[in-house]
Amino acid sequence: LASPTIDSAALAADFMGELVSPDHPSYDAACRVWNGEIQRQPALIARCRGAADVIAAVRFCRDHHLPASVRGGGHAVAGHALVDAGVVIDLSAMTGTRVDPMARTIQAQGGCLNADVDRASQVFGLAATGGFISHTGIGGLTLGGGIGHLMRRFGLSIDALRSADVVTANGELVVASEDENADLFWGLRGGGGNFGVVTNFTFELQPLGPTVFAGMIAWPADQAPSVLEFLRDFIADAPDEVGLMANLRLAPPLPAFPEHIHGKPIVALVATYAGPPEEGERVLTRVRALGTPVVDVMAHKPYTVHQKMLDAAVPHGRHYYWKSHRLGPLTDNIIDIMCDHLGQITSPMSSVPIFSFGGAMSRVPEDATAFPHRDAAHDINIVASWLPERATDADRHKAWVRGFFDALAPHSRGVYVNFTSDDAAQRVRSAYTDAQWARLISLKAKYDPSNFFNHNANIPPA
Ligand code: FAD
Repeated sequence: LASPTIDSAALAADFMGELVSPDHPSYDAACRVWNGEIQRQPALIARCRGAADVIAAVRFCRDHHLPASVRGGGHAVAGHALVDAGVVIDLSAMTGTRVDPMARTIQAQGGCLNADVDRASQVFGLAATGGFISHTGIGGLTLGGGIGHLMRRFGLSIDALRSADVVTANGELVVASEDENADLFWGLRGGGGNFGVVTNFTFELQPLGPTVFAGMIAWPADQAPSVLEFLRDFIADAPDEVGLMANLRLAPPLPAFPEHIHGKPIVALVATYAGPPEEGERVLTRVRALGTPVVDVMAHKPYTVHQKMLDAAVPHGRHYYWKSHRLGPLTDNIIDIMCDHLGQITSPMSSVPIFSFGGAMSRVPEDATAFPHRDAAHDINIVASWLPERATDADRHKAWVRGFFDALAPHSRGVYVNFTSDDAAQRVRSAYTDAQWARLISLKAKYDPSNFFNHNANIPPA
């Protein structure tokens, strides 16, 4: 395919960052996102250095009627960060942070990853409530809601968001907070990248660490029903400090796992105690006393280490496909479906995280933000992964995801917008309540009437 080109001279005159066109030596690298399956050919990657560059890039696209996408951490599985034959407004070089330890806030540029925010805030014994993987971008993560290890204690990322600097579709920078452009601030908290490019986020931080009691315990698949029943019952009245995520997969060939279990189906619980570590060790005794685990790596450890524990399981560049449901409590029927499909898993790299809600995030009123179903119990994300050189196996792995997803469909309470995939166009509506959707489409009509920001889980203007 001939690479698309555009004349970027008009932008270059007004741009501090790097402009990467198809003939640039770093073009191929700049076109890679987390999901190695995604292959797109943008005409230009505008690697912004700050808000002024973002404004210039948006105006350039508007003036030249060019399609645009916005790239944060590049984690959107459907590759929303990249647009064929258009301009990528790339924030990946915008990773600056500034912590105010007295006010307990952090300002983080729109291209920061969770790791950037964790590192900057832990220096002061403070933590932001972010995601489970340190290499996810806070941009996409926050704008969709932001679920993570600390959400039951400190709420979602959007619950800690105090303000955002936003470049709107007409290329103007506005501040969104409870006091300024409050309608936009509401929409940013769950509505995804539909309303503009956030160049800077300000989050409230909470005291935590540097040491926490946290880690992972795993059991062979024959104990999966009792582990999932335990999760259902324990999390229903666990203290807010307890974060618990289940994970269904084949045991990886890592030293922590005894050799006899390698490649066999397991259920794991990833636990985080967001409070005094000694108290965490005591509270989580019940989890550790359950059945006969094959691995127990629960420990006192730095929070930043815990935040990276799962990173290597989902590296950049492998091929991925996922589908997801929001769920109520794990009924016996749901547990049967989960265990059955764990038994049919097709790839040693696939995994099925089951996230547990409740606590602080569930007490925020539903209409306070655009994040729905806060009273749900779980999100499940069925993630297939395989090596790029085994691309011919893709159909088999995707069929496993779809079969698992279909079996759970009768129990679905919609979908977390950040876990939509190639189904985003069909499922975005089910990512919101009726009231939220009505408000979102009218906000979109106000802030982006021509739907300039459409490379995302798209909310059309009313
Ligand atoms: P990108 O692909 O760069 O961006 C996705 C979209 O977000 C863009 O198209 C754009 O519309 C928008 N966007 C990004 N940055 C900005 C910005 N600054 N301003 C405006 N729009 C922007 N989600 C959770 O809630 N919790 C998790 O723990 C979690 N873990 C994950 C782990 C992995 C390995 C992966 C792949 C995803 C995970 N997710 C999680 C889902 C994640 O939140 C979404 O994939 C999200 O879109 C990632 O944001 P990004 O900036 O990295 O992605």
